[in-house]
Amino acid sequence: MLHSSELIAQALKLTPDAGLPTWQDAATHCSHCACPINPGDLFSPVALGAFFSDSRDLAAPNGIVCWRCVHLRKKTLLNGLSFTVITRDAVYPIAQNIHKAWLFLTPPEGPFVALHSSSTMQHLAWRTPVTLDNRRISIRFGPNLFVVRPDRMRKAMGIALQVTERAGGKWLSPLLLDRKAAAGYHGLINPKAEALLEAGERDFLVNLAAGERWALSATMNAKQPLPERPDPITETLIAKL
Ligand SMILES: [Zn+2]
Repeated sequence: MLHSSELIAQALKLTPDAGLPTWQDAATHCSHCACPINPGDLFSPVALGAFFSDSRDLAAPNGIVCWRCVHLRKKTLLNGLSFTVITRDAVYPIAQNIHKAWLFLTPPEGPFVALHSSSTMQHLAWRTPVTLDNRRISIRFGPNLFVVRPDRMRKAMGIALQVTERAGGKWLSPLLLDRKAAAGYHGLINPKAEALLEAGERDFLVNLAAGERWALSATMNAKQPLPERPDPITETLIAKL
């Protein structure tokens, strides 16, 4: 099994911090990413504060982390990876909509890890599964672990273009969408587009997964951002470590 921490360590060429202790007890797992920690492996004890909010995502309640998660818990990477896609050899920013369009409509080959903060200083990396098959993207949006299927994203975008055409050419989104996926209207059919939708199209749109509705908030809008592959920020991040 490929853990997100291993993929990120590879992309950023991470190495263990000096002076970490060596695990002497029976084989166990990293409490964060679930990587095996065997006798002789480097590890670190970890003290989780009273306000640590991600306890439910811990892989084991043993109070230790692997050497990779020592890095993932530091401020530099909490911030540096907050809006990113990480492959084996590069880190790509996805804060902008054109870059989200790249990920959601024309994703890179797996394996990769996809992360998107919903506020500041969130732990995202260690609790996000690696996407192996790019037909089914796992992406963490803050506390939400979402699944986004690019073929369904492309189909939804096609419906939006057709509805726009039927409306006379001025952009008309068939869905009401909220970038934070929080508003009461998020994911509802746009009343202005209702009459222009065929039954099959309507059914398709109301049955999109929660992650797809959120992902569409970046691509299904009047600006119609076209997919653009972002320039990697790998070296910039490595320089900050
Ligand atoms: Zn770990």
